[in-house]
Amino acid sequence: MKKNTPFDIWKFVDKKDKKSCWNYVGSTFSGRYGRFFLDGKAVCAHRVVYQLCNGEIPSSLFVMHKCNNKLCCNPNHLTTGTNSENQRHASMSGAFNVGKSGVRGVSFIKSRGYWHAQGYKHGKMYNLYTGPSYEKAILARSRWEKLNGITFERI
Ligand SMILES: [Zn+2]
Repeated sequence: MKKNTPFDIWKFVDKKDKKSCWNYVGSTFSGRYGRFFLDGKAVCAHRVVYQLCNGEIPSSLFVMHKCNNKLCCNPNHLTTGTNSENQRHASMSGAFNVGKSGVRGVSFIKSRGYWHAQGYKHGKMYNLYTGPSYEKAILARSRWEKLNGITFERI
């Protein structure tokens, strides 16, 4: 199989005018983010688009959707922010209800581009969720807290 270059991503983007969302029509991470294969690794499509248009993403920054459509690959709708800005934006846009700076036990594994939710109980660490969805990580953590009678902690 021929290897993808970052430019191949445009084959999977439904390009429209500047203002509209350009939905990713390739495979996805559970219907959430567009999934693109680069160097044999599955990566988030909107991140590839952002890098093509704007260059490298500083490791401390996240690519966020101004339009809140996670499948959107319109470079005009993508911007970067810090982790807490990303969460605040998602929170404000009503996608889910979280505190301003995030939720305890949920973190982003930058090197892998994945969200990770974990719980700590009786000296043991439990892996609750690993994947591309921030919402699912939060959900896994809140379910675990409910199950263990812990109140939803904010940091
Ligand atoms: Zn959009």
